[in-house]
Amino acid sequence: MTESEKVFQNVVCPFCGCLCDDLRIEVKDGKIVKNDEGCAISKAKFLSHDEDRLSTPTIKRNGEHVEVSFDEAMKRAVEILTAARRPLVYGLSSTENDAHREAYKIAETLGGVVDNTSSVCHGPTVLGVQESGEAAGSLAEVKNRADLVIYWGSNPQFAHPRHLSRYVRAEGEYIGDPKTGRKIWVFDIRKTISAGVADEFIRIEPGTDLEILGAMRAILRGHVLDIEEIGGISVKSLTEMVEKMKEVKYGILFFGLGLTQSKGRHRNIDAAVRLVQDLNTFAKWNMMPMRGHFNVAGANKTSTWQTGYPFAVDYARGYPRYQPGEYTAVDMLARGEADALLNIAADPAAHFPRRALRHMAAIPIINLDPKRNMTSLMAEVNLPAAMAGIECDGAAQRMDGLPMYLKKLIDPPEGVLPDRDILKTLHEKIAKEVG
Ligand code: SF4
Repeated sequence: MTESEKVFQNVVCPFCGCLCDDLRIEVKDGKIVKNDEGCAISKAKFLSHDEDRLSTPTIKRNGEHVEVSFDEAMKRAVEILTAARRPLVYGLSSTENDAHREAYKIAETLGGVVDNTSSVCHGPTVLGVQESGEAAGSLAEVKNRADLVIYWGSNPQFAHPRHLSRYVRAEGEYIGDPKTGRKIWVFDIRKTISAGVADEFIRIEPGTDLEILGAMRAILRGHVLDIEEIGGISVKSLTEMVEKMKEVKYGILFFGLGLTQSKGRHRNIDAAVRLVQDLNTFAKWNMMPMRGHFNVAGANKTSTWQTGYPFAVDYARGYPRYQPGEYTAVDMLARGEADALLNIAADPAAHFPRRALRHMAAIPIINLDPKRNMTSLMAEVNLPAAMAGIECDGAAQRMDGLPMYLKKLIDPPEGVLPDRDILKTLHEKIAKEVG
């Protein structure tokens, strides 16, 4: 191995909420050349880390992006944000926790709103948990103890490719052979690739999650249902399933956007939480959201640590107020309320609904991201950032809340800083302007 070659062991992968911590990454001449252990998503992302790269700050002049110095881009960003009456700070789920801290400070100093991407994915999970509590556990517990694993509205083989192999199809301390020691059930509206590897696939009618969860809870509590079927499942089958769920040693309900974003939304989560709570009368049961972006769980936690609330926080009155549906980014934009957007490590232009996009096109956007994306094309100011977990270190929270340390493997392009440093400088300049 030459001096220009390095091997990093036990690298944490920053490409989904599993945050797998066992990658072996080879670097040669400042480039990542090999990723052992990573899934297909991980390999593709690590090996193409320098594609579509933003490496020089830009501002828009006469509708064109013009390359400028960091100081000039920063000056324009400060002008936009301090002139705004209702600035919105958004994103945060694909960067590390120290960057979050600076973003909350900016929102507070500006008297603006700060929201993260959970408002368009697992926001209903947070609301359901606030309503009914949470039966939470760790992925290590699942691996070592779970003898029944349920995926509801989630397709891990596609979105979290190593979830099954690391925690469900892996040998566990009290499980032995995972093929015989534990069962996997998938509840979904269609037969996904994850359903294809499960022991049971339970097809449900779209939008009936709430009714099915409610019926399971009623059966669990001993009520007799005077109907034949619900949500496409016969009551007889549901009753048999509930009996099996009572008899396990340790059950886990993993759930995805198929549950949080289908009809019922946070009420679905509320019903799932209450079912899991009731199941704990008979057996040990936990539940866990299948978080997508690698640090969306962290964004909820840092927001709660620093503002008191997990997302949708408004500082207009000088203190934090929380109102999902009002201070959530899509709603702020769709109502035409935000008059400037500071977007950090997210691509709202690629994912938000048309009404929100129409307003985004009418307001100045300051965008921090390592890569070109739909939002960078719309942005008035682009500030390229180092990639967390590849070009800078930091902390992130796994889907079970466990904090993980992201390593720096290579240097970012010259002059490109981590989000936390860009945001710290931005906050200092804003604080000087607004006094
Ligand atoms: S499952 Fe997720 S965290 Fe694990 S290697 Fe694949 S993309 Fe990375």
